Amino acid sequence: MRIPIIAGNWKMNKTIGETLDFLKILSQELQQSSATTKFEIVIAPSFIAINKMAELLKDSPVKICAQDLFWEDAGAFTGEISAPMLKDAGAKYVIIGHSERRQFFNETDSTVNKKIKAALKYNIVPIFCVGETLAEREAGKIESIIATQLTGGLMDLTANDVTKTVIAYEPVWAIGTGKTATKEQAEEVHLMIRQMLAKQFGQTNADVIRILYGGSVKPSNSKELLSQPNIDGALIGGASLKPEDFMGIIKSAM
Ligand code: PEP
Repeated sequence: MRIPIIAGNWKMNKTIGETLDFLKILSQELQQSSATTKFEIVIAPSFIAINKMAELLKDSPVKICAQDLFWEDAGAFTGEISAPMLKDAGAKYVIIGHSERRQFFNETDSTVNKKIKAALKYNIVPIFCVGETLAEREAGKIESIIATQLTGGLMDLTANDVTKTVIAYEPVWAIGTGKTATKEQAEEVHLMIRQMLAKQFGQTNADVIRILYGGSVKPSNSKELLSQPNIDGALIGGASLKPEDFMGIIKSAM
């Protein structure tokens, strides 16, 4: 049984104070709902808010996610943050290979692979993002692009490691654009991803791996997306910044 994940990726938004204000509202709303018995609720704030967030949420089921990490444990890597540091600060998840990191920070399938391994070594759940651009979709290359990203990102991982990894299918053309994949388009790629995982790691393992959809998810489209058989939750950017929209998506998922 796959427990769905509703995750908010705040990107470079919210100060520590704004983070704590949001979480107080979210915690109150969640206390009045049974959402946390049905889903894992995850928030990815800025690095500097993680530790404060962990203090505030110490008795809460809401889980903390980092937005990236560096693959070495420690050393002369100015500006970077390692998996043991994130673990110590309270992160349980980490987003790896987001398209914005691939686009602006030269993330490659090989660096993604090192980062996934570093996260798993410290028992932090990687949320590994894959997805095609519009040009790639229009050129009929979805399958080859996703296959390359999956193979590269999961290189040398055991089946056991992969079952501890969450995949996020995020078509690049749908991220922050207001354009969402239809439920049919999203389900088609999610099924394809599961079949690729089954081919490499066996059907039983593929069946327990959670595959999230990301790309302009909002309260008005979340229900139909989340009702698809191979969509096991959502990674939400813009609509996770307002408690009412984020709660709206959680409620629609109920
Ligand atoms: C994201 O950044 O992961 C994302 C899906 O953003 P948005 O929901 O704003 O499209």
